[in-house]
Amino acid sequence: MTLSAPTTQQLPAIRLSNVYKSYGDHPVLKNIDASVARGEVVVICGPSGSGKSTLIRTINRLEEISSGSIVFDGQDIHASMPSKKLNLLRSSIGFVFQNFNLFPHLSVVENVSMSPVRVKGVAPDVAHDKALKLLDRVGLAEKANAYPGQLSGGQQQRVAIARALAMEPPVMLFDEPTSALDPEMVGEVLSVMKSLAAEGMTMLCVTHEMGFAHDVADLIWFIDAGEIIEKAPPEEFFKTPRHPRAQRFLADLR
Ligand code: ADP
Ligand code: MG
Repeated sequence: MTLSAPTTQQLPAIRLSNVYKSYGDHPVLKNIDASVARGEVVVICGPSGSGKSTLIRTINRLEEISSGSIVFDGQDIHASMPSKKLNLLRSSIGFVFQNFNLFPHLSVVENVSMSPVRVKGVAPDVAHDKALKLLDRVGLAEKANAYPGQLSGGQQQRVAIARALAMEPPVMLFDEPTSALDPEMVGEVLSVMKSLAAEGMTMLCVTHEMGFAHDVADLIWFIDAGEIIEKAPPEEFFKTPRHPRAQRFLADLR
């Protein structure tokens, strides 16, 4: 029998090793060791201030780390690299923010087609056609020429998802994508996320939507005081959380 090296397909999509981050002498991420397999959906949950946003932002290098490593697609994300390469890396990992972060002066279709043209050098008409298809996919074909200010929060967030998808990211990161929405708009965003998961997208989602976590996640990471203290499939996490702090967190939600 010969042992061959793992192929790219078998390597995790993202591997965090011994990640540590502090602001001054205040540690916000400690001993983070975790990986995300291709096609896996991970939901990150935990109390406010526990480091969820910081963690997910380090994966896209929106935040620097103090030590450790984060490897995505065989690349060390926190290695020094020219800014052009960093921009490409950033935009090839989709990121959806709580507050949408659309460009207010650009139309919806321009928001979606901009990065492929600017960062990837895709021809404008090709990017435009593709943006229309993506808008159709998130149910907003008829809003292509509207401006973000003319849309509801739920619609803006679906545009933000389409904009991230336009870069054909192998991984999508979400930081509380429904927290800024009126309750009646949460469902339309979660359903787009659900369909992405069903199509096999690798996803890391910070969310307080425990119904979504229960139904869609392969794994829950529970983070408290900067440490992932529990990783478990949802059935296990919700029924029999092992860590007392996870038990308390779940009890407080009810
Ligand atoms: P969460 O998303 O779980 O609510 P955050 O990742 O936003 O938590 O924050 C984790 C901790 O890091 C908090 O104690 C927060 O006050 C601190 N923190 C976040 N950003 C900064 C910053 N730019 N400077 C100093 N402390 C920060
Ligand atoms: Mg946060």
